[in-house]
Amino acid sequence: MELKELLKTLTDVSGVSGHEYEAAQVVVKNIEPFSDEVNIDKMGNAIALKRGDQIGEDRKKILLAAHLDEIGLMVTKIEDGGFLRITSVGGTDVTILPGQAVTILGKEQLKGVVGAKPPHLQEPGESGKPIQMDDLYVDTGRKKEELIDIVEIGTLVRIESEFTELNSGCISAMAMDDRAGVAVLVETLRRLKERKHEWDVYAIATAQEEVSGLGAITTAFHIQPDVAIAIDVTFGDGPGMPERRVSPLGKGPAIGLGPNFHPKITQKLRDLASEYEITHQVEFDPYPGGTDAYSLQVSREGIPAGLVSIPLRNMHSTVETLKLDDVKRCAELLSIFISRLDSKFQEELKCF
Ligand SMILES: [Zn+2]
Repeated sequence: MELKELLKTLTDVSGVSGHEYEAAQVVVKNIEPFSDEVNIDKMGNAIALKRGDQIGEDRKKILLAAHLDEIGLMVTKIEDGGFLRITSVGGTDVTILPGQAVTILGKEQLKGVVGAKPPHLQEPGESGKPIQMDDLYVDTGRKKEELIDIVEIGTLVRIESEFTELNSGCISAMAMDDRAGVAVLVETLRRLKERKHEWDVYAIATAQEEVSGLGAITTAFHIQPDVAIAIDVTFGDGPGMPERRVSPLGKGPAIGLGPNFHPKITQKLRDLASEYEITHQVEFDPYPGGTDAYSLQVSREGIPAGLVSIPLRNMHSTVETLKLDDVKRCAELLSIFISRLDSKFQEELKCF
């Protein structure tokens, strides 16, 4: 499947944190042709293994993690008129919600829209105030009696969007954060079919990054890799954005620099990107956290970890926008990195 089509397939499917199973199945279907083993574990992670050429028991492993889950909503109350009250799951920005189409992930999937009091009916002083989650409701057009068999308190709600192609290789959809990273997992394994590699590669679409980092925590503990790299999105450029905190679209993946990223991993990523003339950039990340990289590296006695990010505009909205070329370059860089892993590099990890 072509990369653009893969991204459409991956972003079309729902994967609100804690409800990733449907998305995990789509990942399995797409990554299976390039893997030796694939499964979905009991936490909702989709795990693919591609074995390397090494021989023997003491197998070296690299873990790549990109989160499968997306931000969304949860039902908190079913009101008498059949209107649903909601709260945020993950970092959902309330300002994007009014007027939004949603899918309620109940016993059956129901379509809904997010409504609020029209400006004409607002009391003096009400207009101009920032909108709050309590001002909003989901309307399904159904009565309470019809809803209670399908929806309950705690039912998750997906925010819908349309996959849109813009100019110059830009594409836009909900959940590009981090299905773009998941697409990189598929694309990296695909490229590794053509490239020899010694180490075993675990490519994991992780559950619940947006709420707790759960999937990265449990899979890193289970697999105990020698090296781990998280693939996520980072703030792209755009009007009003602070220049020093953004990574422009089209300038390639951003290699994370910060005290918690292992210096030998970041250096090797940078050196290989330069050697293979892969357009790339760096981003500084002085504090750990915010991605799966931290969850991976604090597992057991510690796992040397790195972060590679895809520049993305409008993060945590229904129009998360990125450039296809940046996704491709990210997969190219990671497949080269993996093909160059050897025992010498493993030794180097101990010498700062
Ligand atoms: Zn993310």
